[in-house]
Amino acid sequence: MHRQRSTRIIATLGPASSSLEAIRNLHEAGADVFRLNMSHGRHDDIAALYHTIRKVEENARWPIGVMVDLQGPKLRIGAFADGAVTLTEGQRFRLDLEAAPGSAERVTLPHPEIFSVMGGGVRLLLDDGKIRLRVLSHGAGHIDTEVEVGGKLSNRKGVNVPHVVLPLAAMTDKDREDLDFALKLGVDWVALSFVQRPEDVREARAIIAGRAGIIAKIEKPSAFVSLDDILEEADGVMVARGDLGVELPPEEVPGIQKRIVRRARASGKTVIVATQMLESMIHSPVPTRAEVSDVANAVFDGADAIMLSGESAAGAYPCEAVSVMDRVAFTVESDPMYLAAVQSDLLIPEPTTADAISAAARQVAETINAAAIVTYTTSGSTAIRAARERPKKPLLVLTPKLATARRLALVWGLHCVHTEDAKSFQDMINKACHWALKTDLVDIGDRVVIMAGMPFGSPGKTNTLRIARASSEHA
Ligand code: PEP
Repeated sequence: MHRQRSTRIIATLGPASSSLEAIRNLHEAGADVFRLNMSHGRHDDIAALYHTIRKVEENARWPIGVMVDLQGPKLRIGAFADGAVTLTEGQRFRLDLEAAPGSAERVTLPHPEIFSVMGGGVRLLLDDGKIRLRVLSHGAGHIDTEVEVGGKLSNRKGVNVPHVVLPLAAMTDKDREDLDFALKLGVDWVALSFVQRPEDVREARAIIAGRAGIIAKIEKPSAFVSLDDILEEADGVMVARGDLGVELPPEEVPGIQKRIVRRARASGKTVIVATQMLESMIHSPVPTRAEVSDVANAVFDGADAIMLSGESAAGAYPCEAVSVMDRVAFTVESDPMYLAAVQSDLLIPEPTTADAISAAARQVAETINAAAIVTYTTSGSTAIRAARERPKKPLLVLTPKLATARRLALVWGLHCVHTEDAKSFQDMINKACHWALKTDLVDIGDRVVIMAGMPFGSPGKTNTLRIARASSEHA
């Protein structure tokens, strides 16, 4: 049985979800893609998780996607002599390059490259925005600030500098090592953290060279400002609401989320809504009504995927959290308002053969009430264009490349099968009907709309649309 929903679910793995059984249970509950977070865990641990996912996949009914999330150039303070200090509103506090352990007067900020952009009045947000400092003055090796919002500050907390494009490289040395390691493992997607400009994505793309899809995490206001250019460079984006809600007033995040989802969908790029979707389920077996609404809202917007972080990585109820997402997505997608909502801004096809065929396939399938659309793809790009149409009918993807099937596990509505390419026109029809029946997307007697490229086996050549009827001979 294929998934009963089009929106995909990403589950982050961690201590609460690292065994074979736990990962299998998450997959069975509805996780389509697993996220491995490079901010936590050593290479050995990440490799073990990756191989365990592939073991689960051996007995799964469809390929599983794996996304690695690079830590990126996240700023962090150093350590304190006593582990933590309490800062009081109005006091002075210095950030510097000294190696000595911190105190209530100062702490190390081991990022010399950012000191030069600290103009007076710039705000520094520490520990996810709980502490706020205002820059008074700075020199080559120090930044003097006044505490605007105080509180407890402990070792190595993160630092955000909203509205300032920081002179930081897109990837740290750690990111480069992690990326090299992840690509050798064979991950399907790489998520880039703290992207500030399109060049950051371009730099990663040169290294990745097509070996994985690239997700640019939108968590800096500067990335949102350059969203269209970033979308040109990346294969997808993530609405990373955790850091976005620190860098911007949180009340601005919902509107930005809608804009990011809409613009990504228009450009045919994959879009993920992430962070705190079911946060209370870290400790509770049931979500709050507001969390259910939040998940439903992302589904109504037509996002490709919704993501769990701490809920599945470190929570007490990882499977329950996936099940809630599964049920919410299924229920929303069954609501008559859903298709009206996701098709309300029907996207104009671009003047390419793939878009023309994809738009035609959707229309033909709806006109003749076909049970499914079947698309042959090698690189995956035709299937992504077909998904961009958000058709009412299920989309079955047949691909001879396992890597493509795994990568497409993240994309809205695609049911992927790894199988040989068609050898002839008749074989194209037979295979399409066979797999449509086998995956239970259609019944005997149903019609299917088939998209393919001829000559067979030549990528990027989708040029054929064929209507066929599934018969008992195809079973
Ligand atoms: C976020 O900030 O929302 C996010 C997804 O990034 P991370 O979990 O890596 O902090």
